[in-house]
Amino acid sequence: MLKIPFITKEKAEEIIKTYPTPFHIYDEKAIRENARKLKQAFSWNKGFKEFFAVKATPNPTILKILKEEGCGTDCSSYSELLMSKKCGFKNPDIMFSSNDTPFEEFQYANEVGAIINLDDITHIDMLKDACGIPETICCRFNPGGKFSISTTIMDNPGDAKYGMTREQIKEAFIRLKELGAKNFGIHSFLASNTVSNEYYPTLAGILFKLAVELKNETGVDIKFINLSGGVGVPYTPDKEPNDILVIGEGVRKVYEEILVPNGMGDVSIYTELGRFMLAPYGQLVTTAIHEKHIYKEYIGVDACAVNLMRPAMYGAYHHITVLGKENAPCDHVYDVTGSLCENNDKFAIDRKLPKIDMGDILVIHDTGAHGFAMGYNYNGKLKSAELLLREDGSVVEIRRPETVEDYFATLDGYWNVIE
Ligand SMILES: *Cc1c(COP(=O)(O)O)cnc(C)c1O
Repeated sequence: MLKIPFITKEKAEEIIKTYPTPFHIYDEKAIRENARKLKQAFSWNKGFKEFFAVKATPNPTILKILKEEGCGTDCSSYSELLMSKKCGFKNPDIMFSSNDTPFEEFQYANEVGAIINLDDITHIDMLKDACGIPETICCRFNPGGKFSISTTIMDNPGDAKYGMTREQIKEAFIRLKELGAKNFGIHSFLASNTVSNEYYPTLAGILFKLAVELKNETGVDIKFINLSGGVGVPYTPDKEPNDILVIGEGVRKVYEEILVPNGMGDVSIYTELGRFMLAPYGQLVTTAIHEKHIYKEYIGVDACAVNLMRPAMYGAYHHITVLGKENAPCDHVYDVTGSLCENNDKFAIDRKLPKIDMGDILVIHDTGAHGFAMGYNYNGKLKSAELLLREDGSVVEIRRPETVEDYFATLDGYWNVIE
């Protein structure tokens, strides 16, 4: 699929007059339209709710847009819970799907009214001591082994640190019931960034069967099944995007096959999507500031891995468009780099692009999720601003860029120690 930036060269030049590059920009209209489509895809399920994975794009303005579209939040840390609370999310619109959880975070999650999703059986006692067992509780399942869709291995749950074994989840449900829990949920996350309409239906099949079995074995009342995240986006132009309407229909079919005949036709479906909700609707905008001709051709830009870590961390592909040269032939081959003293600080390697001139504005696509959020401060580099392209075409800053004062803030009061 052709990747077209949601801002033109003219628009970018206008924005840059106020907000210099690099910055992340998000497309409000597209975020809302996509959220509505997800809701439509699962409208057959009365209790359906998307709990947006805050870690993907932890910005209050984004969270509020999704709140207006009927979403809750999925958190896994104190800060994410606090941000959700400050944005007005409350019970039952916060999910707490954490792992390796500190004691105090269970207390805080309970205080803000989050639904607690236990990653491990030992967390039952911890939760009991932290705040008592709430009436509504969820447990995370890990089936182990390999996870395949037909003959394709999608991921390797047996190597993943998350969730409980089949034996443990049964034992957990029995104990939680004894301790007073009344409403149960099952959660599982088996593959990341799936570009396949089969992932959710396949996962749903596994979890729906498990739900029927657990209901029969333990007598608990299963109220919801949380399909978690993992529905992906096509980062490369050759891939077809997922069709969320097909995915929703696929889950409905399995629901009717497995849950309905077992008297479980009132179970709510929850999702915790991050990437699918935001990735395509955010872009990193950066300016070419340096060209270097040695054994390869390099274009240096004013963004670096601090602004987008995925290429350095996973070798991830992010499509790049040179604004104003959308239709120019891609007859040059470049490595597009940031300035970190790390040779993996490259947004693209051996990428065919049009001839790039200094001052050209580059759009790095699909950075709306797990983009800004993964930022760090290596080499003393500062995080960028985040901007929002509003539905009326105006642009607002929704996070200012970091300053060197922010970077030094944790050292204030320590400067005199080094004399
Ligand atoms: C990261 C994460 C998500 C979101 O994953 P995406 O791939 O962005 O959809 C959802 N739930 C949990 C528990 C996660 O850790």
